[in-house]
Amino acid sequence: MGDAPRTDVPTRFPPRETAWFFDIDGTLAEMMPAPEMVQVAPEVAERLTMLFGVSQGAVAVVSGRSLASIDTLLAPLVLPASGQHGAQRRDADGAVHEAGAATASLAAARQRIAAWVGGGPSIRAEDKGHAIAIHYRAAPELADAVHDFAQDLAAADRNLRAQPGKMVVEILDAAHDKGAAIRAFLAESPFRGRRPVFIGDDLGDEPGFEAVNRAGGVSIKVGDGPTAAQFRLPDVHAVHAWLAALVA
Ligand SMILES: [Mg+2]
Repeated sequence: MGDAPRTDVPTRFPPRETAWFFDIDGTLAEMMPAPEMVQVAPEVAERLTMLFGVSQGAVAVVSGRSLASIDTLLAPLVLPASGQHGAQRRDADGAVHEAGAATASLAAARQRIAAWVGGGPSIRAEDKGHAIAIHYRAAPELADAVHDFAQDLAAADRNLRAQPGKMVVEILDAAHDKGAAIRAFLAESPFRGRRPVFIGDDLGDEPGFEAVNRAGGVSIKVGDGPTAAQFRLPDVHAVHAWLAALVA
């Protein structure tokens, strides 16, 4: 963590020299009680489409969601995207790169999580394939128990890591994060050689901020909390206004 993030987020970027990376939940779209309830506003999708055009395709989504879930949210827009905190990546040519090394570890974790969560309604496991999210939004008083369980699970297998988030903790392939996904995009056309801009709101976005900082780019954190990002916007509404200013 360096200095406190600045609030004067730039809105002027050379379109053909900038590479854009966006988180979705809590950044482009408001968080909801369940991930299935989240929607991306049509004007947000329109502005992403405009940015994709003026930047000649250098716009990617970097999310904890699966690629399928990202595409559903942005339909009919299909962007280069990283899903499940870097474990999936669809490059600018449409080729999908999937992590595979932690498959057996995740299968074992899946069983332990299912047994631990049980049939109760207050904690819900969401199996994304390369990541298993344990949501406790309906029972915030169980936060410590959920985080302790997830940390123990990840500590017992070096192929896995626990990624805390907002009312959720995810068990993931330890080899992948959003920073690695951004670096992989930056190694390829049309992102290569450009200055990256990344905006996100949660702990899982911090490796992305660090990657962008090291690449001489612009990192923007949405909301409160300690961060490696250089800039801060207060909420999703402010992100929408910033996005509108970018394409104005
Ligand atoms: Mg988010």
